Amino acid sequence: EAKQRGKNGYFVYCDHQLQQMRTNMQLLNDLQKAIQQKELFLLYQPIVQLPSKRIAAVEVLVRWHHPSLGAIPPSTFIPLAEESGLIVQLGEWVLKEACRQAKQWQKEGLTPIRVCVNISARELQDRKYAKRVEMILQEANLEAKWLELEITERMMVYNEPTITRNLNLLKQLGVRIAVDDFGTGCSSLSYLKQLDIDTLKIDRSFIQECPHSYYEKAIVDSVLSLVQHLNMNVIAEGIEDEKQFDYLAKNGCSEGQGYFFSPPLSAEQLKQMLQNMNEPRHV
Ligand code: C2E
Ligand code: MG
Ligand code: MG
Ligand code: MG
Repeated sequence: EAKQRGKNGYFVYCDHQLQQMRTNMQLLNDLQKAIQQKELFLLYQPIVQLPSKRIAAVEVLVRWHHPSLGAIPPSTFIPLAEESGLIVQLGEWVLKEACRQAKQWQKEGLTPIRVCVNISARELQDRKYAKRVEMILQEANLEAKWLELEITERMMVYNEPTITRNLNLLKQLGVRIAVDDFGTGCSSLSYLKQLDIDTLKIDRSFIQECPHSYYEKAIVDSVLSLVQHLNMNVIAEGIEDEKQFDYLAKNGCSEGQGYFFSPPLSAEQLKQMLQNMNEPRHV
């Protein structure tokens, strides 16, 4: 009933759908400008070693401060950018800025950490993607081993040759590859070995119900066992309390991320945290 064909053959949309489309068109238009006009900025969420809580990495999370609408969450504008193809430009900006910042922290004498950057399928479908990453690393003068690109299982489902080729080239450069939201994408596991994946990120939905729920705990246990046998790194996403932290730390989970340790921070706040971490605790 929401969408009907009128007499003349045109689709008739209800007010709500039209409103939604207009909003999306407007937002997309604004997003195009936002990239040029510096309305986008990055936050960095610490990823810590377990059980020591020392920062080993940061996940780079993009933010958009819209001039009239205020903060727009990535869950709203990333899908729009993906559908329109604008994600390619946006992703390139994020990657450049993240690499520049990582180098900047190193220059400031802080302990080097990995920077983990989310990428979309559309970016990996570009034949030149790996080459562009290589150039961005060169420009920033950042060693490839500090960069970890987060892909999702969903990207692996169709086994596209361009995507596989790009991932292989990236591995050859020394870039690390992580699988984000692991356990939610229903793909085969054979790509883990084929692509020599470095890190699995256990999805927050499993961590949140762990260890009190039998089902989620079983899944977490299985992933931790898989990771140990395949000698991969693992990050538990969305750790929010002490119980989750204790369970994961005691069961061999190497790294964790979540509000229990820290929310996403500005570059300046992250620098402070790294500095505090490097100071000797007992005088
Ligand atoms: P993600 O890659 O799974 O990122 C983790 C999300 O969980 C982030 O949301 C983070 O703020 C949130 N989070 C972290 N710790 C906790 C916790 O303890 N509890 C809860 N409830 N949430 C936590 P955010 O920043 O809103 O990003 C949402 C998604 O947007 C990301 O999910 C990622 O898929 C996408 N995204 C963000 N930045 C980029 C980007 O630069 N490029 C692309 N392609 N996607 C991005
Ligand atoms: Mg991620
Ligand atoms: Mg994630
Ligand atoms: Mg997730």
